[in-house]
Amino acid sequence: MSDARYETVIGLEVHAQLLTRSKMFCGCAATFGVAPNHQTCPVCQGMPGVLPVINRRAIEFGIRTARALHCRVNAECRFARKHYFYPDMPKNYQISQYEEPLAEDGRLEVEIEGRLHRVGIQRLHLEEDVGKLTHEGGVFESAVASLVDFNRAGVPLMEIVSRPDLRSPAEASEYLRTLRAVLRYLGVCDGNMEEGSLRCDANVSLRPRGASELGTKVEIKNMNSFRHVRAALEYEVERQGRALDRGERLVQETRLWNPDKGQTLPMRSKEFAHDYRYFPEPDLVPLRPAPAWVAEIEDGLPELPRARRIRFTEQYGLPPYDADLLTADRGLADYYEEAVRLHPSPKALANWIGSELLRLLHGDPEALVMCVIRPAHLARLVALVDDGTISGKIAKDVFERMARSGEDPDTIVRREGLTQVADEGALQAVVDGVIAANPAAVADFRKGKKQSLAFLVGQVMKATGGKASPQVVNRLLAERLPPT
Ligand SMILES: [Zn+2]
Repeated sequence: MSDARYETVIGLEVHAQLLTRSKMFCGCAATFGVAPNHQTCPVCQGMPGVLPVINRRAIEFGIRTARALHCRVNAECRFARKHYFYPDMPKNYQISQYEEPLAEDGRLEVEIEGRLHRVGIQRLHLEEDVGKLTHEGGVFESAVASLVDFNRAGVPLMEIVSRPDLRSPAEASEYLRTLRAVLRYLGVCDGNMEEGSLRCDANVSLRPRGASELGTKVEIKNMNSFRHVRAALEYEVERQGRALDRGERLVQETRLWNPDKGQTLPMRSKEFAHDYRYFPEPDLVPLRPAPAWVAEIEDGLPELPRARRIRFTEQYGLPPYDADLLTADRGLADYYEEAVRLHPSPKALANWIGSELLRLLHGDPEALVMCVIRPAHLARLVALVDDGTISGKIAKDVFERMARSGEDPDTIVRREGLTQVADEGALQAVVDGVIAANPAAVADFRKGKKQSLAFLVGQVMKATGGKASPQVVNRLLAERLPPT
């Protein structure tokens, strides 16, 4: 088994599309999903003689992320031309950053199986995205034509390069998850891997345990989900381990993950930096972010997931599991805090959100934006249970109705007459009826069979359509059926 003999070394390069309204170097809109070539201009189509203008908001987002990841924002940075040919890139070069990136030397704390790992961030830089090719007829090899859409050409991208600090595919996947949550908390990227607004390439190599020199690294591309990242890395670690066991020499190359085959396949021999003939972008002056501006951006940083998780356990007394669940997504955490502010019942609200609300969202907290149940309504529902107006069972029905209509719980409870019956006079008659109708269960209970009481309580609940107060029913039954 290769695991025992080799150490896995992984570094990730994450490309995040920034949530700016316009593109990196022109005023075109950067909206996703618009009809092909409807968001283009001479600049992002690479016409001769046009001049790029830097998007200030993109720089702000870059600095915001850099500071959240504890990176040093360089006093001066510069854009560079990266040359290569590809039909989706009309200029035949991409404006990126090379020797002088926006920010360097940061870290991200990642919790893996309860232990905190500090993953180094080597650099963070900005660049423009390229266009998108659609191959008519499916796969590259058999396509009869290729169509190009320049809507995406020039959309701002932020590249975050980790140090090779990750030691397993599971760690890499957790790093990516943590980074994605941070980017969403910062509001700089929507993190949608399926739509390609968050993309990940991985560098992976093996080395004999105890060795300090890095092995030959292979780059893997085309992993557009967490599951793919983990599966591709697991496959690659296995493949490299077997090759090394056989005494083979690995080549530095770029491989593509093929999710259908469950394999990485060679794409091209790895290019080296000098192949790109980088040189400073002559149409843009060096960028010097004012220190006061950087400080202002840093002051405006929101509370990040880890800090919020810790605060949730301390401030609301939540178990770590609940705090984890609620803070994994900023929207969900905001929702929770809004509800708790209106009805300070932290654990009950955490339970409702963790079970009923997430079930409604099919387990995806990001679907919360589509949910019609407002935090104030959920808070009110829990308050109605807490003050005994409705039973827990009825509350679940009310919740379902709230999810369908978006109405507040008071309206539903009033209209449907769902108020819990705690009035002893009214319940007394029902209890007497149930006792008279179930002599066998009554006899069993008198003989000491505890389950019979639960059965009788159930019968009363049934007779009242679930509206009886269980506490009152229990007490009335106990009074009527004293132990013999
Ligand atoms: Zn444009």
